[in-house]
Amino acid sequence: MAQNSTLVNGWQPVIGLEIHVQLQTNTKLFSPAKNQFGEEANTLVDLIDMGLPGVLPVLNDGAVKQGIAFGLATNAEITKTMVFDRKNYFYPDLPKGYQITQLHYPIVKNGIVDVEGKQVRIHQAHLEEDAGKSMHDVYDSESVVDLNRSGVPLLEIVSEPDIRSAEEAVKYLKKIHQIITYLDISDGDMSQGSMRCDANVSIMRPDDKEFGIRAEIKNINSFRFVEKAINFEIKRQIKVLESGEKVEQETRLYDSVKDETRSMRTKEFANDYRYFPCPDLVPHEISEDLVKEVKDNLSELPEEKQKRLMETHNLNEYDASVLCADKSIANFFEEVAKGANAELAAKWIIGDLNALLNKNDISLKESKVDAANFSKLIQNISNNTISGKIAKDVLDEVWQSGEDVAKIIEGQGMQQISDEGELEKIIDKILTENISQVEAYKSGKDKLFGFFVGQVMKATHGKANPSLVNQILKDKLK
Ligand code: ADP
Ligand code: MG
Repeated sequence: MAQNSTLVNGWQPVIGLEIHVQLQTNTKLFSPAKNQFGEEANTLVDLIDMGLPGVLPVLNDGAVKQGIAFGLATNAEITKTMVFDRKNYFYPDLPKGYQITQLHYPIVKNGIVDVEGKQVRIHQAHLEEDAGKSMHDVYDSESVVDLNRSGVPLLEIVSEPDIRSAEEAVKYLKKIHQIITYLDISDGDMSQGSMRCDANVSIMRPDDKEFGIRAEIKNINSFRFVEKAINFEIKRQIKVLESGEKVEQETRLYDSVKDETRSMRTKEFANDYRYFPCPDLVPHEISEDLVKEVKDNLSELPEEKQKRLMETHNLNEYDASVLCADKSIANFFEEVAKGANAELAAKWIIGDLNALLNKNDISLKESKVDAANFSKLIQNISNNTISGKIAKDVLDEVWQSGEDVAKIIEGQGMQQISDEGELEKIIDKILTENISQVEAYKSGKDKLFGFFVGQVMKATHGKANPSLVNQILKDKLK
């Protein structure tokens, strides 16, 4: 039997993800109401979204095109005929009493996603409408419903159970996030619910013929929680099975405060929903012309962008792939490189800027760093106005205040000292103050060179041009 590094105590975890992605259309899936996040409650609601009788849904072509784009990006089959079904259930945030979705004839089938060399299959991706949002903490004693989200188009992406660890699940999720943001079909913001993930988890012995019974953990809203929830669930199922009990097929919730999953309800079977084709929407044909149109207008995908950056900016594969992991970072790099040395820009984005973003756990968009200003920083490094060391201080200042790089450098007198005469004076003083070290150096203690450089840097508060300092010191210590 092949070695398998994803076993946990001799158990093989098996995971399939269902990812809901809110599409970035102007209007909702079946109504002319605006599709926008963060507006005042119940202001973006059409009669159709309220589920009033006598109104008819009209399919949003934009959402169809976005679904096709996802299918093309994952080498999937685009269906010729889509059928919308009603999934019937009662909940206060669903005034119609049913959700319009696609059960048997989804827009996209049989896709493939490459996750660091491993192929994860996509069973299907289907279009459906989002529900409204129940809110329990606005008033003390009553719950209220905001229907702004009702009818917002979702693409639900269902993977095959091909994933074998929590870590791999996160990588897959990040890959999907990368694809949808590159395609511009969603902002993929998990904290705002534009991308939400249900994780199906089971465990089996490596030589079992069949998968184990799975639990589905609903609505996990961050990459980190996906990893934690799955790992908790794997351990829980191991405990259950090793104590001779059975895993129940059920829906569970992840509690991020307690870092545990809890039973929500035992799994309802599909036919409980009494699915049937929605009589308000006839089967919808997708023409080859439409698929071609979407294909011709498809946004650049991560691999393509990476290749282009390597070619046009002479980047190595590693740097290009790190930059392209996040579309906003890759775009930022391209902006910066318009006016500054590309390799140096890549180095500073991948190193210092990424470190700041990670440490503060915010996105580039939320930060105070903009491309034009960052470009100035790189220019000032490459034309020797400031040293690399000082550049870190300037970047910190930009990070804090968003202040203009040129103003920071001037205002704080951070310009590098590249005036030979000025540096010579400073160096002469240091050498006369450290006669014994000079003698030791001259009698063979080469390592002391670093000491002299250090003294010059100290005296100039790190502003001396390092290569000039080296040159002058070498001359004077001959
Ligand atoms: P349902 O019809 O109940 O929604 P599906 O067969 O469509 O179930 O599967 C839903 C999700 O669960 C898919 O992402 C699939 O990969 C995953 N899945 C199915 N069986 C298992 C299993 N035994 N262990 C883990 N995940 C599974
Ligand atoms: Mg399902």
